[in-house]
Amino acid sequence: MSERIVVVGAALVDDGRLLAARRSAPVELAGRWELPGGKVEPGETADAALVRELREELGVDAEACGRVPGEWPLKSPYVLQVWTARLRPGSAAPEPLEDHDELRWLGPGEIWDVDWLDQDVPAVRQTLAHLGAAEGLT
Ligand code: C5P
Repeated sequence: MSERIVVVGAALVDDGRLLAARRSAPVELAGRWELPGGKVEPGETADAALVRELREELGVDAEACGRVPGEWPLKSPYVLQVWTARLRPGSAAPEPLEDHDELRWLGPGEIWDVDWLDQDVPAVRQTLAHLGAAEGLT
């Protein structure tokens, strides 16, 4: 079976900072940091899933801007893809509503200050390579 399920992670950038979210569950991931996001549902596009997950998990009104090239394997059958995202004007500030217990906006030089999930490390590295200079993150 080559069935794969895409998990979308958001590189949510605001004012030259990248949002990192600390997982509160499940126990094997708790305390580690990730790009917030989740599974794309059947019939849903990746960018729509991203907007939905950010609303559910963080209470924000975001828009997906574009995909970061690449795809990273998670536990089978999941693969991680990353999209850049922005808060829409008038959006609430992000809050950890579910799955997370802390959020941090990471500025230039702070990106590696948090203990990212192993599988998110190459995705974050690629995200920085893709939009770092343009967004003031590097
Ligand atoms: O958030 P959700 O539980 O829907 O995520 C599905 C799976 O994707 C989780 O098991 C988590 O390990 C993984 N994930 C990840 N990196 C992210 C987001 C999710 O490894 N940035």
